[in-house]
Formats: sequence, C-alpha cells, structure tokens
Amino acid sequence: MAKKQFKAESKRLLDLMINSIYTHKEIFLRELISNGSDAIDKLYYKMLTEEGSSGINRDNFEIEIKTNKTDRILKVSDNGIGMTKEEMESNLGVIARSGSLDFREDAKDEEEDKKPKDQSDIDIIGQFGVGFYSAFMVSDQVTVISRAYGSDKAYKWESEGTAGYTIEEYDKKDVGTEITLHIKKNEKTKGSGNETSDAEDYDSYLEAYKIKQLVGRYSDYIRYPVKMKEGGEIKILNSMVPIWKQQKSKLKKEDYNDFYKQKFHDYVDPLKVIHSSVEGVTSYSALLFLPAHAPYNYYTKDYEKGLQLYSSGVMIMDKCADLLPDYFNFIKGVVDSQDLSLNISREMLQHDRQLKAIGGRLEKKIKNELIAMQKYDRENYEKFFKAFGLQLKYGIYENFGMNKEALQDLVMFWSSTEKKPVTFAEYVARMPEEQKYIYYASGESADKIDRMPQTELLKDKGYEIFYLTEDVDEFVIQIMQSYEGKEFKSVSAEDFELEQTEEEKKAAEEKEKENKELLGFMKESLEGKVSEVKLSQRLKSHPVCITAKGGLSLEMEKVLNQMPMADGNGMKAERVLEINSDHKIMKALSKAFEAGDEKGKEKVREYTKLLYDQALLMEGMSIEDPFAFANSVCELMK
Ligand code: ADP
Repeated sequence: MAKKQFKAESKRLLDLMINSIYTHKEIFLRELISNGSDAIDKLYYKMLTEEGSSGINRDNFEIEIKTNKTDRILKVSDNGIGMTKEEMESNLGVIARSGSLDFREDAKDEEEDKKPKDQSDIDIIGQFGVGFYSAFMVSDQVTVISRAYGSDKAYKWESEGTAGYTIEEYDKKDVGTEITLHIKKNEKTKGSGNETSDAEDYDSYLEAYKIKQLVGRYSDYIRYPVKMKEGGEIKILNSMVPIWKQQKSKLKKEDYNDFYKQKFHDYVDPLKVIHSSVEGVTSYSALLFLPAHAPYNYYTKDYEKGLQLYSSGVMIMDKCADLLPDYFNFIKGVVDSQDLSLNISREMLQHDRQLKAIGGRLEKKIKNELIAMQKYDRENYEKFFKAFGLQLKYGIYENFGMNKEALQDLVMFWSSTEKKPVTFAEYVARMPEEQKYIYYASGESADKIDRMPQTELLKDKGYEIFYLTEDVDEFVIQIMQSYEGKEFKSVSAEDFELEQTEEEKKAAEEKEKENKELLGFMKESLEGKVSEVKLSQRLKSHPVCITAKGGLSLEMEKVLNQMPMADGNGMKAERVLEINSDHKIMKALSKAFEAGDEKGKEKVREYTKLLYDQALLMEGMSIEDPFAFANSVCELMK
C-alpha cells in the first residue's frame, strides 16, 4: 500500500520532535492517556445529550495499558468516541489543525530541515498541541486502530515516523481507540562505554514500575480509571480526582504547573495559579492560570479564548468564551460547576444566569490577583504586562471606555524618572503639589522621546513624564481624560502651559507682542502648513518644535495614517510651529526681518522652512520635500 505523506510542516515538526525537542521523552504516555480521556469525555457527553442520561454507566469507561516485553509493545486503549477514517487523516496526518505552521525560515530547504533545534523552532513547537506525535519519541512504529461511535467500520493507521503513514480498513469489535507503540531499542551513550542514560533507556517503558510511576506523576487526576494488569490482577493506577477538586493544601506547585503545561500545551510554567472553590447559591471550582508568555497566535484572529467548562466533572465545552471579558482573554483554565445544565447550547449559555454569576466572581478574583502581583511581585507583573498589557489597554479603549474604571489600575507606562513602567496611581502619588497635570509624551521609543525638545523643560523642573510608545497608548489616555481628578496633558499639546508667575506671564505676553509681525510673516512663509507660529514656553536648548492644536495629536496622525485603509491624504493634525525666543536663531531671524528689504525677507522665509522641516524630523515625521531641504542646507554651508 502506498504511503501517504505527512503535510510538509508536520514532517518537519516530527523530525524536530524525534530529535528530542522534549528533554523528557516520558511525557508521551501522559499525552496518550490525556487523548484517551478526552475521547471518553466526548463520548460520554454525546450519549448524555443525545440519549438522555438513563442507561449510561460512567463506570464502564476506562483506559487500559498493556505491555509485552518480548515484542517491545506498549498499548494504550480507550473506549471513547473513536475516529472515523477522515478524522484519522486530519487529526493524525497534520499537526497544526488550527492554523498553518509558520516557520521562520523557509521549510523548503531540505538540508536545513535536517538540522533543527534552534531556539526559535523549539519555541514554535512548544506552542502546538503535538500530543499524539510524542509517541514517536520512544517508538519506531505507531499503530492506531480506531472505531468511531456510530460507525460499523474500523480503520488502522500506521506510521514509522517521517516517511509517511498508511490507512486501511480493519476489524475492531468495540467503539474506541487502541494505540500500539513499538518501543525503540535502547541506545548506547556515545563514547561512554555501554551505559545508557535516562533519556535513552527505552526498555523501562515496558516495565510496570515505570508505567505506574509515570501515571502517578502525570495522569493521576484523569477522571477515568487507567488500568493495567499486574501479577494476574487488574490495578487502577490513578486516583481519578480532578486536580481542581483536590484540596489546595495537598497540592504542590509542580502539580499545578504540570497540569497546566500538559493541559494547555505550554512549555513554560504559568506566572500565577488561581485555585478557588465556592459553595453558595452558585457553587463551582475553578483552576485558572496566567501564562508567562502570549501564545504565538495571541494577537491574531486565530486565537480562541475561553475556559474549559465542566458540569459535575463532565466536560461540556472546550472553550467557553462567555465566562470572562475579552480583556482577560489570556487566562487559561477550567471551571466546574454542578449548577450548570449538561444540555446547554452555546446560545443559551450566553444568557445563563449561573454562568454570568460565576464569570463575574472570577473576573473580580483575577483582577485582585493581578493587583496583588503588581504590588508584591513586580518582576512577574512586568513579565505579565509585557506579554498581555496591550490587551488591557485595548480593554480600556474599547466600547467607548466602558471598562476604563475596571482596568485603569492594571496598566503601566514608561516613566521618565523611574526608567521603568509605572502605574497611574504611582505617578500621582509622586506628583509635587504645584503640578497640575499628568504629563505624557508620545513617540517611537523611550529613547527618542527622551530627546524630544518638548520634554526638556519639564524634566528640568523634575516632573515625571509618561513615555507612550505603543500605537494604542494615546487613544487610551484620550478616552480616560483624567485619573483621580488629574487631567492628562501632552507635552506636545498646543495649549500646554507650565505653571508661571504673574511676572513671567507678563514678560511672555510682551515678547509675543514685540514679535507679532515676524511670527505672522513666518506663518505666511509656510503657506498653510501650520495654523500658527508662536513663541514657545516649553523649549530650552532646541530652537523649534511642532505641536498640535485640537483633538488630533501628531502621534495619532501617524497611527491613523499607517492603518491599512488609510490613504495618502488622510487625517492631519492641526500643526503649530513653536520657536524658542531665547535661542540664537531667533536673533538672526529678527535681525533679517528688521532690515525690511527683500533680501532679509527671503532669508526669513528660507530659515522658517528649514526650521519647520527640522521640527518635523525631530518628531519622527517625514518632510514634504527632502530635496529642497537638502539643497537649502547646502546653500547655508557655502
Ligand atoms: P490535541 O490532543 O492537542 O488535539 P493530539 O495530536 O494529541 O493533539 O491529537 C490530535 C487529535 O486526534 C485530537 O484532537 C483528537 O481529535 C484525535 N485523537 C487523538 N487521540 C485520540 C483518541 N484516543 N481517541 C479519539 N481521538 C483521538
């Protein structure tokens, strides 16, 4: 029979795995048992909902392990829902069913394929459910025989690894799946005699003691009995109590972490575990996890949020999206409640009162845990925020700021004085009494913002400034408007005003008056590019800066015009050119202007255009005519 090829990306992944991506090859067993348990869950649920609960005995479900040392066979069978031929093709022939594997380098390069184990590859692997494939880490042949519920035909799938697989019809009396592994021979450790290291000791996977140990370590909470025959007697190897139903005091950190990694296919421990059981009008147990990093597809539409939902230990939904709000969509976990009906449709769930009550409590719990983490475990909070902070910011901005109160204390922005991300509350607590506003500046990076002319004087005064570097940041600030009664103020806003004494104010007005004609002439020279040229109150060593009048800032202009739908003549902020009246250039301008002749005026015109372009460049904006700019600079050098 002709072998069918695995999809290209599966083949590559398989290669990587077999070449020991996982240092712990032993995890193959928990993966197979977990698949068996899922399959039983599915069947049990189907029977309950299709046939009603009468006559179904949950006690009949089981997972069985058999070994045969002589033939080097390890068998894991379940009487779950089974697979049709098509399901075998699509589930076992491809790895990433949820999306294509997007390897960084081109997978076409076959030579490249043979030398894996670059860290980025490993990261990618870790993010997929490669469960079933792990069988190839310990076997040189895998056979899957399965009969789907409701079907009278069974099929045999067989593969020796990367070469491909075959499928043929086969006899199987009962519904369910039987997976047969032909265990590899022990390998000799290179160069060190004939000892075998742990990872290469495949023989042990045929030993009862080892299997017992592995089931105990990784699969104890599986809700169906994992049985094995030993010394003529059938033994149950697991305790069968789901981890979320076990007493907190009896569980160790590793128990939680192991469960998380297995269940949610992560290769990194979670940052936080929230285990809570509530008895009352609505009773439930929840085991939630805060991942340490965003899944590879987190910020794409492929990401499916949701907690796994159980009703008295029966899984009723794999990803229940209605429990938690979108801004907490990074939370992974399991919720089990006896108060949820088994026979509930997705549509009905949305309106289910019990579910809403549970969701509300969980949301509060998560928020409290995050706040506590922010206060007492800052390092991890920063890690969390780096991975998921963007989602919280979107949460503030979305729905016209409906959730801003709930989320405002969770977000952080870079502080000019602390040189790290800080919260609004921390900023406000540090504000000197005379400081009226919460200041912020936007730009590409903290480094670049730090060099912006507009931030100079504020820094001189010792005021703290939030440096906003992400596209969504300024939208967040705008929708919030204020925090604890303190308004936000952009260092680039046209109406920016530092606290001044009466005298200072008067002097400034006087100067503005003196230069009125010159400023007017400069505005004209810019031919409608700016709505005003004025003397600045925020500059110290730089000659000019650009600011924006009205609701649209320069930074927002940039963001809006970068959006996919934006066309060239999109939204424009109303620009103002500000000049530093203490700068030498101001004197030069005044002098040329006062000469009153055409030559002097021409000089002012040229200088103004140059200054305007300079200001744009400092803002990180593009200038209209780079050639004219370059020519003018050359003119000056002559
Ligand atoms: P995952 O478990 O993350 O989905 P796997 O590679 O372990 O990934 O399994 C792929 C799919 O194959 C499963 O989602 C399931 O549909 C199917 N499958 C695997 N093992 C079994 C089994 N014992 N019984 C029925 N279906 C199975």
